[in-house]
Order: sequence, then structure tokens, then C-alpha cells
Amino acid sequence: MVIRKKAPGLEPWVGNVAGFIGDPVKRLRFLQSVAPLTNGGREPRRGMRKGRAALLLAIALTGLVTFFLTRAAARVAPRPTVLPGVAAERRNHLSHPSDAGAEIWRVEQSGTSEAYSNGLRVDNSFAVSSHPRSYLAFPAGGAGGPARRSQPAGIVFHSTESQQAPFAAVHNEELKRIGESLLGFLRRRQCYHFLIDRFGRVYRVVAEGDAANHAGHSVWADDQWIYVNLNESFLGIAFEARTGRDRAEEEVTAAQKRSAVMLTEMLRNRYRIPAKNCVTHAQVSVNPSNMRIGYHVDWAAKFPYGDLGLPNNYATPLPAIWAFGFGWDPGFLQAAGGDMRGAVEAADEILNGRAAAAGLRAGAYRKRLQQQYREKLAALRAGGRDTSPPLTAP
Ligand SMILES: [Zn+2]
Repeated sequence: MVIRKKAPGLEPWVGNVAGFIGDPVKRLRFLQSVAPLTNGGREPRRGMRKGRAALLLAIALTGLVTFFLTRAAARVAPRPTVLPGVAAERRNHLSHPSDAGAEIWRVEQSGTSEAYSNGLRVDNSFAVSSHPRSYLAFPAGGAGGPARRSQPAGIVFHSTESQQAPFAAVHNEELKRIGESLLGFLRRRQCYHFLIDRFGRVYRVVAEGDAANHAGHSVWADDQWIYVNLNESFLGIAFEARTGRDRAEEEVTAAQKRSAVMLTEMLRNRYRIPAKNCVTHAQVSVNPSNMRIGYHVDWAAKFPYGDLGLPNNYATPLPAIWAFGFGWDPGFLQAAGGDMRGAVEAADEILNGRAAAAGLRAGAYRKRLQQQYREKLAALRAGGRDTSPPLTAP
């Protein structure tokens, strides 16, 4: 049996210092660091005893100083339990519409890259500010005045209709060069909130809280509100792509679709955007000079609603027609193929039905709606926040 002798005169120091160390792990580490000196198993020689005593005293003093410094630092800057930004985002998520999905949050931000809990990654290398979003939403029922808002009400999907190279590894450098050139252009023009390049990389362009140039003269509506000129009220997501009914190849790559799913999911979740307010530029674009729909025709057909987890919103009767009496020409429906024909015809039916209910011929009722549109435009301009007509962006 080995009787271990403790280093004489040192144990009170050990106990006192250990008692100050609240963290059990740190306390154990301290005791372990002292143990070889206090439990040598043999009585050390006199010279060694003095040396070890001095060393142990130094360790004890270091432990005390560290302990008090740690406590002081903890009082000045308490350690955060959540990442910056996450708490604020959670507060915005207190209520969700039933179709906006489970909570999605920003996991981290490092350098110019953001990661989200649904797998989305956003590159901020080309991000730019414009001016804070502020817009009027008009009651769809006509009763009451407009509401001033600053949260995005929907998403408009675009295609850039920009230069393309064949999507193949042999063209990799050309694809990269074209994409970066496009991003520089969009940044200078403050176009769109997000661009999804052909590799599926998501770039933030205009800050989410700001208005972006993307929709120009445009109209959309949901069950409660009508939105006029969507640069201020809707977020713009652009695919680096060319669309068109006659194109043989796929408009977007599989990587772009996958990223669009995650980006749409995150934005809908963050701002509680209903699925029916996620639409394409061709569905919302209007031309006030001739009062016709379809001034811009990007995504007039074949937008992959199903792939993005959205209903086929091409079927929604066009609000520009039933709310404001816009007309259409055969060229537009030709560009749209079959996808929007039903929406145009259904909107005309609504207009005709309401005209009959009002005891008016359709033409007279349409003129009344068009006058209401001009009044809304005047209200927007009086509010100082109408950014139309811009737009060279598709
Ligand atoms: Zn567009």
C-alpha cells in the first residue's frame, strides 16, 4: 500500500483557488494540473519542494487572475446564445400564412456569403442599396383608402433575356465571364433583388428592404389588395436565361430550379408571401400608353411553377384586365402560347359580368376602370414613391 504524502503547506492554496473556479470543467483542469505536484508519491527533496511550491503558487495566482478577468469580461459582454440577426428574424415569424411553410432562418453569414437553414446560400458580392421600400396597397373591394406598407407583398419572376453560351463544361470560362458581366450591369442599374446564374448560384443584387427596378408599369391583386407598379411592392427574382415559346432547349438549368425552390421558400417564409402572389413578369406587365397588357413578355409561358412548389398561377384571371380594364392583342397571346389564354379569357368574363351587374355596356365599364387606374397612378405619384416608367430591364 502506497501512502501518498501531500506537498506540505500547499493544500490550503489549492482548495481556496479551486473554490473560486465556478466552472466544474475548469476546476477539474486546475486540480489535475496541481495533482502531479501535490501527489508525487515520494517525498521530494528539499530543493525540489521549494521549486514546486513556487510553481504551484504561480499556477494558483494565474488561476485567480484568469477567474476574475473572465468574470469581468462576462459582465461587460455576455456571451450571445443566438447568432446576430436570427432573433430579429424570428420575431418576424410569429405568424405565418398556412402556405408559407415552416420557419427558415439565416444560419450564418461570413464574408460575402450567407447560409440558410433550408440549404439556400446567397452571395452578396454584388449587393447594392437603392431606397427603402414604401408603397400603397389599394383595397380590392374598393372600400376604404390605400394602406402604406413597407413589407414585400409578392415575388415577380423574370428572365434576363441576356447573352447565353451553351451550358457545357467546355464553355465554363465563357459562362462565368458572361454571368459576372451581367451582375455588374444589374448592380449599376439596381435591377432585381436576386439573380440566379446558370450554375444555380444565388446573388443578391438590390437589398431586400429596398425597391428595385424590375417590374415597371405593372398590376397584380390578391383577395384583399391591388398592387400598382410592383418595383416597390414585390421582390424581383431573375433567372439568367432566355425564354420563348419557340426555344427548343430548356429555359433554365436544373441547378437554377433547385436554387429557385430554396430562395422562393425562404422569401415566402420570411415575409409571409402567399403562393398566389408569386407570378411572372408577363402576367403583371402593362402598357399605360395603349392600355394593353403584356408590355414585357418574359416568362409569358412555361414558367416551372410546379418545380418551385407553387400552384399554376398562369390560371389566375389577370387583375390588369378585371380591375383596370386593360385590353390585349393577339400578338401577346401568341407569345404566351396556351399558358395565359385562359387567364385572359377568365378576366374578360369577370369584367363583363361586373359590367352587367352595374347596368353598363362592357366598353363603358372598361373606361370607368381605366379611369380608376389613372387615379391610382396619380395617388402613387402624389405619394412620391412611384418609380415608373423605368425600365430597360426585361
Ligand atoms: Zn422581366
